[in-house]
Amino acid sequence: MNHDALPSELKSHDVAAAWSRFDAVQAGVEGLNAFLATDREAQSAGEGVLSGVPVAIKDNLATLGMPTTCGSRILEGYVSPFEATAVRKLREAGAVIIGKTNMDEFAMGSSNENSAYGPVRNPIDRERVPGGSSGGSAAAVASGVVRIALGSETGGSVRQPAAFCGIVGIKPTYGRVSRYGLVAYASSLDNVGVFGASVAEAALGLEVIAGHDPLDSTSANQPVTLLVPSPLIGGTAARPLSGLVIGRPREYFPDSLDPAIAAQCARALEQLTALGAEVRDVSLPSTDLAIPVYYIIAPAEASSNLARYDGVRFGMRAKAADLGPMYEGTRSHGFGAEVTRRILLGTYVLSAGYYDAYYKRAQAVRSLITREFAGVFASGVHLLFTPTAPTTAFRLGEVSDPYEMYLSDIFTVTANLAGVPAMSLPIGRVGGLPVGGQFMAPHFAEATMLKAAAALEHALGVEAHR
Ligand code: GLN
Repeated sequence: MNHDALPSELKSHDVAAAWSRFDAVQAGVEGLNAFLATDREAQSAGEGVLSGVPVAIKDNLATLGMPTTCGSRILEGYVSPFEATAVRKLREAGAVIIGKTNMDEFAMGSSNENSAYGPVRNPIDRERVPGGSSGGSAAAVASGVVRIALGSETGGSVRQPAAFCGIVGIKPTYGRVSRYGLVAYASSLDNVGVFGASVAEAALGLEVIAGHDPLDSTSANQPVTLLVPSPLIGGTAARPLSGLVIGRPREYFPDSLDPAIAAQCARALEQLTALGAEVRDVSLPSTDLAIPVYYIIAPAEASSNLARYDGVRFGMRAKAADLGPMYEGTRSHGFGAEVTRRILLGTYVLSAGYYDAYYKRAQAVRSLITREFAGVFASGVHLLFTPTAPTTAFRLGEVSDPYEMYLSDIFTVTANLAGVPAMSLPIGRVGGLPVGGQFMAPHFAEATMLKAAAALEHALGVEAHR
């Protein structure tokens, strides 16, 4: 990382500033409820690029010294005996881990209303949701408590809250960051992701946590070259994106898209053209199958991963005279409604009678979606640009139908299904609420994506942010 590229705000954001901001926004009935645990004694454990920088961690990443609850009653008070690799790397780079952030239970949700510990409020408008499932981390960054935070992504849980809160969120290539110590939701889709107050800060966070880890056999042995070139940040090159081809997939701009969001995207695409990029219309025809495919595969894997919460090994245990009633009592009381729904759905699609009809078919369509991405990228397109979410942040309680909630993920789940890197950055506002623009890139092409995002961020100016 080129340190000249880092905003001076990061260099001056220390732990004392974080706590005074925390005290201002977290407490009281109007509080954000962004944190589930804090460590007031936390200090830098190493010297590095993040020396003294406060960082917040989503509560499904294992930490020593603070509970890891995944926003669930079933893990209330559970303290992990080991730490996630991503957290360890942050500490080694000097970061101060100040707390664990609220989230939808087991990362299942798009609004943070599924947390057993109450919803998180959007710092931009407290009547609205921050997005989910990493809503606490997004709110922590958007409120200025921290400038970098970790989240997790299975289908958009970093990008969508980043869009709703007006900050930057990166979902890396599957395998770019170790999942060791990330509590599993749907293992073939799960990633550790990063929030930043700016592209450079999110990129720095990613650079610190990326890399192969012997403790995660799916982590990739790829060089970590995620630098954001400083001339872009300084804006000295006139047409810094010359030679870059950016695809505009038509399926992500349906006629039904909110015209105000479409207009913000059009403005961003004009800026990208002015920066030297060529914008090309492309097609990813199977996009409309992504939501049904995701909501078969993710619950299927979740039903298997969450079988381990049986009252024996982790967290809470219901009192019962016998083993069967103990399992039943623990799981019935420990899991909330959405998690229970997903476990039932996942068990159903994996059952002998329905496996071929649902799970196997969903896997075949997943391959098709992956091939469509590969085809577009092989045709000379370097990046894709789309809206991050179909709406701006909605009101708390506004979306009560689970299927309607699933539709918030329509533009984000595809990157998880294909395993490609993607990110959201603020591109403007509609009705006072932030709008996110999404870049997607070929596997391990984070550097290209970050370069374009940094240029766009600079061209749009800071008013797009806050
Ligand atoms: N909203 C999606 C879901 O509920 C994505 C969640 C995530 O990325 N963890 O599954």
